[in-house]
Amino acid sequence: MIAIIGAGISGLTLAYELQKQGKPYILFESSSRTGGYINSVQNGNYLLEVGPNSILVDKNFENFLRELNLADKIEEAAAVNKNRFIYKNGKIRKMPSGPLSLLSSSFFSFKTKAAIFKEFSNTSKTTLNETVSDFFTRRFTKELTEYTVDPFATGVYAGDIKQLIMEETFPQVVAFEKEFGSVLKGVFKKGFGGRRKTATLQGGLQTLTDTITASLKHISYNSKVLSLQKTGSVYNLQVQLDTEVKQIEVSQVVFCTTAFHSAEILNEYSPAVAGKLRQVTYAPIKAAYVAFKRADVTHPMNGFGCLYPSAEKSFLAGTIWNSSIFKNRCPADEILATSFIGGMHHPEYTRLPDEEIKQRAVQQLTKDLEIKGTPTYVHIAGWDKAIPQYDLSLKEAKEAIKGLETQHIYFSSNWTQAISLGSCVQNAQLLAGTL
Ligand SMILES: Cc1cc2nc3c(=O)[nH]c(=O)nc-3n(C[C@H](O)[C@H](O)[C@H](O)COP(=O)(O)OP(=O)(O)OC[C@H]3O[C@@H](n4cnc5c(N)ncnc54)[C@H](O)[C@@H]3O)c2cc1C
Repeated sequence: MIAIIGAGISGLTLAYELQKQGKPYILFESSSRTGGYINSVQNGNYLLEVGPNSILVDKNFENFLRELNLADKIEEAAAVNKNRFIYKNGKIRKMPSGPLSLLSSSFFSFKTKAAIFKEFSNTSKTTLNETVSDFFTRRFTKELTEYTVDPFATGVYAGDIKQLIMEETFPQVVAFEKEFGSVLKGVFKKGFGGRRKTATLQGGLQTLTDTITASLKHISYNSKVLSLQKTGSVYNLQVQLDTEVKQIEVSQVVFCTTAFHSAEILNEYSPAVAGKLRQVTYAPIKAAYVAFKRADVTHPMNGFGCLYPSAEKSFLAGTIWNSSIFKNRCPADEILATSFIGGMHHPEYTRLPDEEIKQRAVQQLTKDLEIKGTPTYVHIAGWDKAIPQYDLSLKEAKEAIKGLETQHIYFSSNWTQAISLGSCVQNAQLLAGTL
């Protein structure tokens, strides 16, 4: 029997694959719902993603959705999603999207434009544990790093590029430099793994986890795994079920939990590994969901949203223009935006009272999008530990868990390989084939 701990997208996918292959499993979930960070909430006329907002659907993800009979529920993002906006010198600016627009746009200085073309012949090489900031400044310029890489890392990791390790965060980009002597040569020759489209599902992303959940036969809810012990080749899991603690015998254990939850469970079994997992850094985030009357908004909001480079010292880290890219997010005569606050650059903002967060988020949106009226709706949500940081702490944690595989203890979650939902699905699928 294989025990899977945690029914987020990773644990659910793993359980689904094992069930398909006829391998015995039991999926333990500490709460009364599945989905983990995925949480779509219909609040009156507003559909909020209190967690991930969109998926990047590649061939593998599309096949998975088809298999789950979700093909007709895929909602591709509107074409404008390809327009990405970056805050620069106090204004929302459209990012150049290709070589021609790069040359004609005033977004970058001449020095940066020249450095982009010179990157093809830049012979400098990466070093061990080089940070994302150092890597891109070395290959391009400080300006490019601050105004594209920094906001991108904020958008995906809520991270600080001076802490994120290049080889952990963007391994493929490092591989391009090693193989071709240039990142751009690598991008032109190999690309980033085929075409991917930005999408969601009707009803929100939770439609995915709800659908997988409905197909599973062995989920145990309100079942918090407390610890594990080994006797011979058998593992004994202590599982808190309502008021009693039950002992459950299994032969293999897969952690599909955060590094800090995994640390709690492993504390007795391997204090050394637990110590490393406990140290993994997680970025805290608050999200402000704000709607306005469409007629009050001057900016066309013709894009995915806007990211705020840390150099601009803004209150917001980024905003997704939900109603510009997906349907049925709010009443037709309104717009809905989700702004993110905090992350590794400003963890202190997440500790402000919700009222102040609300007021400062609305103030900045009103200025940036040239809004004339007041919001029709505001909702605040937050996570003290939202996103694992691919920094040195995580590199050490990954080293520490390597030895456990030979003992039939495995890990499959967003801190072990990559953060995106597509990667969580793919990694769980790959692991299922090896158990
Ligand atoms: C604000 C935010 C926005 C994001 N946006 C995007 C996005 O737009 N696109 C994208 O691709 N990704 C996004 N991500 C990342 C993505 O949501 C996560 O990487 C992914 O959901 C992680 O899934 P998981 O299954 O690995 O872990 P989790 O979702 O953390 O699931 C772990 C599960 O384990 C359970 N658990 C914990 N302890 C125990 C225990 N002791 N016993 C039993 N069960 C336990 C938890 O209750 C939880 O259900 C975002 C993340 C956040 C926080």
